[in-house]
Amino acid sequence: MGTGVIISGAGPVGLMLAGELRLAGVDVTVYEKLSGPSGESRGVGFTRRAAEVFHQRGLLDRLGEIEIGRQGHFGGVRIDFEMLEDNHFGIRGVPQYRIEEVLEAWVGELGLSVQRGCEVTGFRETAEGVTALVETPGGSIEHTADYLVGCDGGRSTIRKAAGIAFPGREATRGMYVADVVGCDIPTRAIGERVPGGMVMAIRLEDDVDRIIIHPDGVPPHDDRSRLTFAEVADSWQSLTGQSLHHAEARWVSAFTNATRQAAEYRRGRVFLCGDSTHIHIPAGAQGLSVGVQDAVNLGWKLAADLQGWAPQGLLDTYHSERHPVGARLVRNTLAQSSLYLTGEEMEPLRGIMRELVTFPDAARHLAEMVSGLDVSYEVGDGSHRLLGRRMPDRELKRADGSPTRVAELLHAARGLLIHSADHTEAARTAAGWSDRVDAVAATWAPSADAEDGQGAVDSVLIRPDGHVVWTSPGGGELADALPRWFGPREHSARR
Ligand SMILES: Cc1cc2nc3c(=O)[nH]c(=O)nc-3n(C[C@H](O)[C@H](O)[C@H](O)COP(=O)(O)OP(=O)(O)OC[C@H]3O[C@@H](n4cnc5c(N)ncnc54)[C@H](O)[C@@H]3O)c2cc1C
Repeated sequence: MGTGVIISGAGPVGLMLAGELRLAGVDVTVYEKLSGPSGESRGVGFTRRAAEVFHQRGLLDRLGEIEIGRQGHFGGVRIDFEMLEDNHFGIRGVPQYRIEEVLEAWVGELGLSVQRGCEVTGFRETAEGVTALVETPGGSIEHTADYLVGCDGGRSTIRKAAGIAFPGREATRGMYVADVVGCDIPTRAIGERVPGGMVMAIRLEDDVDRIIIHPDGVPPHDDRSRLTFAEVADSWQSLTGQSLHHAEARWVSAFTNATRQAAEYRRGRVFLCGDSTHIHIPAGAQGLSVGVQDAVNLGWKLAADLQGWAPQGLLDTYHSERHPVGARLVRNTLAQSSLYLTGEEMEPLRGIMRELVTFPDAARHLAEMVSGLDVSYEVGDGSHRLLGRRMPDRELKRADGSPTRVAELLHAARGLLIHSADHTEAARTAAGWSDRVDAVAATWAPSADAEDGQGAVDSVLIRPDGHVVWTSPGGGELADALPRWFGPREHSARR
């Protein structure tokens, strides 16, 4: 019998999950088949909710200079994000390798070093544990733990070995991507339809641009390792008239519109997280963003189980909460793919979408969908608007007068009760869970989202992933919410 959790894959999602588990003191091993960081950057930004998730662990500031994206789109139909609180869609211009560097440094500080050059090739499961089969530079090993999580990307070995179905749509369209140095490429940040296809250009840093191209009718590239920059430059020139042939390319690749979702996020002691559960076109910086949210949903639940306080069924809520989010991601990216990539015959629908997004409610609906702000979990009866949703990062004043914010209070990834100083009964009730839930007496600073009345709250119980499970007023009894999410008052450690 082993202990703790094995994670296969040190992409952004595996690293985020490792950090969540280490914050809770769980024994974690991360195996990564690559011998060093890839230095490659598929992602170049992340959504508003992913930014909040990083912020609530103190990671956003570590990314250095970040650019807030005010402009957004849905399948190329421009949306105004001004209507969201803080008026933004998310963060632009942060290469994925930078996010991975920050996450790996963070898990390092939490006492974990990634086992590189180690490929997990399969597993065996017994009633006592799960044994991962690992090819290491020193030979084959077997490693047994309580749980195994496949954070091993879209072609997940763990998903295949577990026999978990991955239904969806085959690739029908091919796209090219390249990071080009030394060209003056006009920005087309949300992608543009041009005669013959779709083109996008984003400034990554001084003198470096990311281009994405979909020439209409181009099938998926059969071997992206053989793709040359000359082919990409030809394609760019045929759609835009601009020659990039003289430029240097830092990275050239191809991708497709294949769209799939794992049928199960958990089978027994094996879990899937991130791209191993969902693949789709990269529209709206959602892949990595939803993946890190999968990780923060799963991390504290695995820790609760291993520490012996998980209420009955908590681990299964990983699938019941995150599978619908993945299904919605798949649906919205398929819709965006049709709008973005279909030729002239889609123009009437694009025109109608452009009209629809001039209505604030329609624009807000789409903006909240792609930025991840509309995620809501079933948390029981109650009438308050915040129940089940993410807690906005509001400002607070502690009882001693010092300022703080919700995100800061979530850095330790523990449960959090924020209550007003005169709500002493809440503090007394939560005292029985003080090993899992921090209680903070504080006063809310005025905020726009609280001012409309529905968002106003006196006291609130927040899960480690930032979702609200109890409010006062409007959220039922705290004495019911605490055991539902944080287990019995008394518990004995599993080991
Ligand atoms: C062109 C493009 C642009 C994109 N832009 C964005 C964006 O701007 N924003 C965004 O949010 N998303 C974006 N995405 C999606 C994003 O890149 C992925 O969603 C993200 O990388 C998923 O992270 P992950 O950790 O789940 O998987 P991966 O990043 O694929 O990481 C999986 C890791 O597992 C390792 N591994 C695989 N198999 C094994 C094994 N058997 N044993 C051990 N290790 C293994 C791999 O080497 C890898 O390091 C984009 C994707 C593409 C293609």
